[in-house]
Amino acid sequence: MSSRHETNSPDQTEAIAAELAARLAAGDVVLVEGELGTGKTTFVRGACRALGVEGVVTSPTFTIGQRYPAIVPVSHLDLYRVADLGEEDPDLLDDYLGPDRIAFVEWPHSAVTAIAGLSHVAARVMIEHGGGDRRVLTIEAA
Ligand code: ADP
Ligand code: MG
Repeated sequence: MSSRHETNSPDQTEAIAAELAARLAAGDVVLVEGELGTGKTTFVRGACRALGVEGVVTSPTFTIGQRYPAIVPVSHLDLYRVADLGEEDPDLLDDYLGPDRIAFVEWPHSAVTAIAGLSHVAARVMIEHGGGDRRVLTIEAA
C-alpha cells in the first residue's frame, strides 16, 4: 500500500508523520529516505511528538542514534556516515532497535538487512524536493 502527499511547510510534513505514528506499535521501524534537506528529520520530529517525545528532536551528529523516553520508547537513527554496516560493529543497532521500541532511520540503505532483522519494517517514507518549501512524500506501508 502506497500513498503520496504534497506538503508546503514543515508543519504539514510533521502532521503527515503524526498520522503515520498513530498506526505504529512497539517493534516497528520506519525507514526515512531522501536527499539532504528534504525534511527527513522534520518528519521524524512530527512522528516523535505524536508518540509523546518531549524536548529537542534533531539528527544525531556524533552518534548513529538517539533514544527518546516515551510510553513506548522511540529511537532515531541517522546512518548517513555509515557506509557499510557489515564493516562496522554489527551490534551497533542493538541499542536502538527491537521489540520494545518504535524506531525511525534516516539514510537506512547501508543497513536495511540488519534493520529488518531487529525490528519490523512498518513503512518506508521517501521525501523529494518539489521546489521552494514544497515536498512530495511517498509512504509505502508494509
Ligand atoms: P533532512 O533531515 O532531510 O536533511 P531536515 O528536516 O533537517 O532535512 O531539514 C529540512 C529543512 O527544510 C528544514 O529547514 C525545514 O524547515 C525546511 N522545509 C521547508 N519546507 C518543508 C516541508 N514542506 N517539509 C519539511 N521541511 C521543510
Ligand atoms: Mg536529517
